[in-house]
Amino acid sequence: MAKRVCPRCGTEFADSSRFCNQCGAKLVDAPEISIKATQRTISSSMINYRLGLVYYKKGKLDDAIAAWEKVLKMEPDNIEVRQSIEKARREKEELTKE
Ligand SMILES: [Zn+2]
Repeated sequence: MAKRVCPRCGTEFADSSRFCNQCGAKLVDAPEISIKATQRTISSSMINYRLGLVYYKKGKLDDAIAAWEKVLKMEPDNIEVRQSIEKARREKEELTKE
């Protein structure tokens, strides 16, 4: 049976749905290998994103930005991460002004 995988969020679908019920993206047919590759990218960028949040909450802005930049390399279209980096950079600037 041909599996379908969401190109946006990586969710797998065994049925014949044409759209992802997680995020609404159009689904594509994908071989097993690319499904696994997608999942690995998602989990490893998710770890770095969460790591960045931990650093950010501790006030370690440089470490947070570094972790989020790794995510951005894997997911250049991730707007949420891009905005987090910009926010952290602005806060860093505010701190150095004083
Ligand atoms: Zn999706």
